[in-house]
Amino acid sequence: MLRGSQFYSDDPDHPLPVAERILRWYWPPTVPFVMPEGFHKAQTYARVNHGRWVADCPFCSSAVVADPEDPRFFCVHCLNNGTGKWVRVVWPEDFAAIEAELALRARTTHRNWDPQESLADLRDERQGRTQLGRDVVAALERQGGLPVLDARSGDVTLLEGRDARAALEEGGSR
Ligand SMILES: [Zn+2]
Repeated sequence: MLRGSQFYSDDPDHPLPVAERILRWYWPPTVPFVMPEGFHKAQTYARVNHGRWVADCPFCSSAVVADPEDPRFFCVHCLNNGTGKWVRVVWPEDFAAIEAELALRARTTHRNWDPQESLADLRDERQGRTQLGRDVVAALERQGGLPVLDARSGDVTLLEGRDARAALEEGGSR
């Protein structure tokens, strides 16, 4: 999974912790720079979206790519609601196991995790999808093909074998 330390490049001559690199790159040019101090009582929770660890701003709709090495968050859009304080990013204890489980999903867009999901939920979701795929393929092998509707022409064609499998994989959701 993509982490902040990979996403926000560092300056080798002036290395900074990840959360501070974001300030260096994205601080609004019209606002005098002030290094955040202390922690706000608000928290934000690391989650995975399309293969990236992200932390959402608790005050506005902004977000950053998060990193477990530096669990501090500061929003360069609302300046953490103008408070000048860091917000703590809460990471799951088993984030490495979550990464390993999500890495088993072929598509980046299927690599998603929210804090209310357990590792077991993720495994069930992957195995359930695999089983659903097997069930559907078995069913269409019995029926002789997958009926596919062409939305433009309104024609229905019957896909068989490899074409049907490819169409099913294309249609997979998250
Ligand atoms: Zn914000």
